[in-house]
Amino acid sequence: MDIRLSAEDEAFRQMVRTWLEGALTEDLRDSARKRTSLWQDIDTAMAWQRILHQQGWAAPDWPEAYGGTGWTIIQRYIFAQECIRAETPALIPMSLKMCGPMLIGHGTDEQKAHYLPRILSGEDIWCQGYSEPGAGSDLASLRTMAVGDGDDYIVTGTKIWTSYAQHANMMFALVRTSTEGKQQEGISFLLIDMTSPGITVKPIINMAGAHELNQVFFDDVRVPKANRVGPENGGWTVAKYLLQFERFSMGSIEIHRTLDKVAKLARITPVGAATLADDPAFAASLSQLRTANQALEATEQRVMASLSAGHSPGPASSFVNILSAETAQRADELGVEACGYFAAPWQPEALEPGVNRAPVGPEIAVPLVPTCLSNRMKTIAGGSSEVQRNIVAKAILGL
Ligand SMILES: Cc1cc2nc3c(=O)[nH]c(=O)nc-3n(C[C@H](O)[C@H](O)[C@H](O)COP(=O)(O)OP(=O)(O)OC[C@H]3O[C@@H](n4cnc5c(N)ncnc54)[C@H](O)[C@@H]3O)c2cc1C
Repeated sequence: MDIRLSAEDEAFRQMVRTWLEGALTEDLRDSARKRTSLWQDIDTAMAWQRILHQQGWAAPDWPEAYGGTGWTIIQRYIFAQECIRAETPALIPMSLKMCGPMLIGHGTDEQKAHYLPRILSGEDIWCQGYSEPGAGSDLASLRTMAVGDGDDYIVTGTKIWTSYAQHANMMFALVRTSTEGKQQEGISFLLIDMTSPGITVKPIINMAGAHELNQVFFDDVRVPKANRVGPENGGWTVAKYLLQFERFSMGSIEIHRTLDKVAKLARITPVGAATLADDPAFAASLSQLRTANQALEATEQRVMASLSAGHSPGPASSFVNILSAETAQRADELGVEACGYFAAPWQPEALEPGVNRAPVGPEIAVPLVPTCLSNRMKTIAGGSSEVQRNIVAKAILGL
């Protein structure tokens, strides 16, 4: 098997590399290096998205007709790799990776024409209103009510764990429009303007001290019926379709980044007369994780190939999610091990963009502990690993 890239793909790689070198400012790189969670700080994420959008590269996975790049699967993979190499900032997934593909699959022509360009440009920032207190894994038991009133619904209830709701001007949400019959058959999918009267956003601070999560309250909020995606009481199908995209992310890219940092740190961490990188047990752990991540990457590429052929990710996105969440957590733990005693100082100020005070210990070590803490959520958010295993058992193994 010849796994070398073709001359055209090598030329593509060079073109992307040159463009990234020119497009990334030192400020953007600095913020990207200091990111400690799934979410980049909003200013950096949106600044980078605008630059990508000007180039037509904000959503490489979307069909070309809606603003995608038309790249082949290999080209998209090369682009992802070059982004790791160049240390690009992360983009906000709720808009580009979830809402966009969901609208492309299930939105009306009007909804697509209105929202997709605004997602690409960053004019709209979306958050996800699925979970509620008492409705997480058992999502279908959600109770936020939407009652018809002429051309509108009146929405009342609450959503929780709503990532970046404090920055979003739009929410895609699941609401209950019927209490008859099966729970799944009484749910509708709405697009809600977050500036509507009656919406309150309250922060939830995570254990790394960051404000990424919120609880959102709806108190008689008017939402036009034209903002419904799919039929009334038919929102469950749309919700599940979107979840496949949420659960499928190129998690291996993040893990590559973490493992590269860990390897760099190990090369400068003294152990006796040598370095941690020379320690056979450490080197074996690092190699095992690199191998596991390559296996994950191959699985991701299979799902991407299926997407390129016009299919949705399907239940395979669940095992991609399990593998990427659990491998990421093992990589984070190795990162903390590599920090040694420099894992102890808690120094969030060293992660501020543009800070001019030297950190305690090597600079590369500073984000590793907060990243490890923040990534504990990876086996919960988007559906816990236990629930994903249930899906794999039923939908793939037929158990
Ligand atoms: C950082 C973070 C960001 C999030 N962002 C968003 C967001 O933007 N929007 C949004 O809508 N939601 C968001 N969520 C919510 C997330 O989707 C839920 O936390 C998740 O679905 C789990 O639901 P729960 O927290 O209610 O836990 P529960 O459902 O109460 O589960 C508790 C435990 O029981 C286990 N469990 C439950 N049912 C089963 C079962 N059938 N079989 C085996 N084990 C089971 C779970 O695995 C878990 O360990 C976020 C969560 C986190 C942690």
